[in-house]
Amino acid sequence: MPESTAAKFRTILLFGMPGSGKGTQGMVLGQLPGVVHVSCGDLFRKLPKYGELGKEILHYFSQGLLVPDDLTVRIWERHVKILALQELLLPHQHTLVLDGLPRNFAQAERLDQSLDVIQIFHLNISDTAAAMDRLKARALRENRLDDINEEVIKRRLALYYEETFQTLSFYDPSIIYEIDASQTPLEVLGQIVNRLIEIKRARDDAGRSSLLESPGPR
Ligand code: ADP
Repeated sequence: MPESTAAKFRTILLFGMPGSGKGTQGMVLGQLPGVVHVSCGDLFRKLPKYGELGKEILHYFSQGLLVPDDLTVRIWERHVKILALQELLLPHQHTLVLDGLPRNFAQAERLDQSLDVIQIFHLNISDTAAAMDRLKARALRENRLDDINEEVIKRRLALYYEETFQTLSFYDPSIIYEIDASQTPLEVLGQIVNRLIEIKRARDDAGRSSLLESPGPR
């Protein structure tokens, strides 16, 4: 992980309650050249269940609780180190699209040393019942432990309002873009893409490092 003096990673954050579609949008954006998508939830899910870290997170995960900050940041930093060693994530070449991280103020503060957050998309669903329906459908589709039990879903939604949503106030409001996430994935993507094109043009005009362009093949 870079020290505070080292280059920060140019970063786009996807915020939104469970079921708002962060993962879907992140996955699509991650296909663009020069973009690296990291889903914190996926990072946790991919840890081998028999390993030390995998065992440690399972307890929190299955109950819909946040994994403790130290552990979350440790796992994140390790992942970034691996990507950097493989030259799959380099501060001057890539733009990070992060979903599910940070989820609280403490994480936002810690990540601030290494991330240059240029844009946040807040995928907003005001209809909690609609979000719950999406989560239940996903539970069946993806066999997810944390979406199966209604109590666990409720806890995750409550945690979103109590902690994650509040974390938006850590950032400059001018970089936060609100999107109605009850639209179809295609419409949400359209809004994200249009906004990113605007940012790219503004950055190009200002002579700043360009967005979403990789100098060579990945
Ligand atoms: P969703 O998009 O439905 O919220 P995720 O896949 O992003 O689901 O997260 C699943 C679970 O992983 C969370 O309920 C939590 O236990 C854990 N988790 C994900 N990101 C973080 C984070 N930044 N800090 C702590 N726990 C996290």
